[in-house]
Amino acid sequence: MAISELAQLPQTALVAVSPLYRSTPLGPAGQPYYINAVAAIDTRLSPLALLDGLQAIERRHGRQRGAVRWGPRTLDLDLLLYGEAVIDEPRLTVPHAEMAQRGFVLRPLADIAPLLRLPNGETPQLLCEALPRSEMAGMWLVAAEEAGTCL
Ligand code: AMP
Repeated sequence: MAISELAQLPQTALVAVSPLYRSTPLGPAGQPYYINAVAAIDTRLSPLALLDGLQAIERRHGRQRGAVRWGPRTLDLDLLLYGEAVIDEPRLTVPHAEMAQRGFVLRPLADIAPLLRLPNGETPQLLCEALPRSEMAGMWLVAAEEAGTCL
């Protein structure tokens, strides 16, 4: 549902969506698995207007802010990259501050953009290969049939 709502943001078109990955949650124990994916969009929205749009989608899906850090949540939309921009504002850090350490971000990003370079020249594929094994161990590709029931 979030992916189809992304495509409905004003002045925005969906370009690509990665496969879905199931991952073991960070943070407090006893949470359900997460489903992670990365989408590429073409947009004329400014970075902050896009962040507003992402947060509006999160709110429509019952996201409550200020609860437990890394606790369970219905939906979390992060802005990973905005072209080659480097943004450091109170509400927005781009590239996303933790993306280079997270297998559940880098793997699907490399799937849809194997040749992409981050503003500092790094590639998601090489960053992914440099991660400790433990970072990828708790992550599985969601089978196509099951993904069909998710989307
Ligand atoms: P989160 O808990 O991941 O949804 O993020 C909490 C806060 O991070 C939000 O209120 C945003 O203002 C801020 N934030 C900073 N940089 C980003 C980013 N690249 N993508 C999404 N949220 C961001």
